[in-house]
Amino acid sequence: MNEQGNVPIVSGKFYGTSLNGIYDDLEKRIEQTKRQQPANIEYKPKSLLQPSRYKEEFWKQNEALANAIEFGNDDVLCCFVFQNELGKRRFIVTHPEDMWEDFEHVPMEKRVFYEVIPENLPCFLYYDIEFETDINKDKDGIKMTSTLIDITCEYIAKYWNYRCEKSVVINLDSSRDGKFSKHLIFSTKDVAFKNNFEVGCLVKKICFDIISLVSSENSENDILSKFNKSELEELFVKTTKGKKLFVDLNVYTKNRHFRIYKATKWGKNSHLVHAKDCKCHWNKKSRKSNDFDLFINSLLSYLPNAKKLGILSFNDPKSLQIQHYSQSIKAQTKQCSNSKLYSEASYNSLNNFISNLIKPGRIRDMKHIANNHVIFEIVGNRFCQNIGRWHKSNNIYFVIDLNKKVMYQKCHDEDCQYFTSVPKKLPVEVAFYFEDETDCLFSTIED
Ligand SMILES: [Zn+2]
Repeated sequence: MNEQGNVPIVSGKFYGTSLNGIYDDLEKRIEQTKRQQPANIEYKPKSLLQPSRYKEEFWKQNEALANAIEFGNDDVLCCFVFQNELGKRRFIVTHPEDMWEDFEHVPMEKRVFYEVIPENLPCFLYYDIEFETDINKDKDGIKMTSTLIDITCEYIAKYWNYRCEKSVVINLDSSRDGKFSKHLIFSTKDVAFKNNFEVGCLVKKICFDIISLVSSENSENDILSKFNKSELEELFVKTTKGKKLFVDLNVYTKNRHFRIYKATKWGKNSHLVHAKDCKCHWNKKSRKSNDFDLFINSLLSYLPNAKKLGILSFNDPKSLQIQHYSQSIKAQTKQCSNSKLYSEASYNSLNNFISNLIKPGRIRDMKHIANNHVIFEIVGNRFCQNIGRWHKSNNIYFVIDLNKKVMYQKCHDEDCQYFTSVPKKLPVEVAFYFEDETDCLFSTIED
């Protein structure tokens, strides 16, 4: 058996060696439970009081995610990842209720578990916020957290006309000596975001607006104007790379692993616990423990009421509205999960920018080519920078380099075949949609 093997691993082996047999016992218990059930029973997820006992384990994430989709009934199977002390990862597809039951029996120091947030499937809004406390002694993390939640609720209200309050935000703390660290989960019961990429778009938009407002004198923003400038300035912290917002923007990448409630990183002994300043409360329906409720409600991709769920999409900022969840979301996302690099919102913003630039011309065609480049074919505007005037019959086109966030003009005229205009930077409000984890446009501002 090796890590590259395609064969699902025999249950229990992985934990058996890494968790010194602890998981072996768990596996035995699970096997016994299974045996007590009638033969050939389909392990369908059941109610809170009757856990499903569906469980599959994989070395490979894509196989685990595919399994969760295939066997998930109404999206109730989630994909978790366990990391052993050697850094090896094992993917577990199961019902969250079962996951919790197993998880509770794992010793604290070995609870290195994450939820996999499947790309292109709906999830709740979340934040990872942190800063070094040693160099930010004057910072009040609790107040900053509260402000950030309020701002986010205002954005959701403004964009989707949806009322979101502190009472739905689960606030988990993982602070330790020298570090303030929290996870915030907007556990809105009736709406979720289209996917975590779009959550990232909203978060980046919020951060971008805060940075713009704080760093320029005359910048205006109708949502942020409800807050004092000092409240917004307080959200910036000192880092070794300069002053930045205390929001981590790198947690919205595809199939992101997000640490679960009560889990720790290896050797850090800094478990995510229920924060003292958490204001969340919900109608308690289950007779299970508070910990169980917190765990279930803090999962980002567990959507038991998926079909009744409203979907918040950041796709077209002009027509933001709550859409209804449908199976088609699943179908669409399966198709494009490997090819689609950016959200529709990203391309819309680029499209709008080019359209305005080339008036009275218009875009005839847009295509994504190799190396993360996009070509816009233009008609109705033949102004070529090479000759400084319009061509009589040949059209021009623009090439966008999404890696460098620059654009340049080229031309279909034979005389201009080797011409490339001087690259121009994409405006910040367009470029930010194409930021990835290596970019730091939004993270740092001048001190
Ligand atoms: Zn030309």
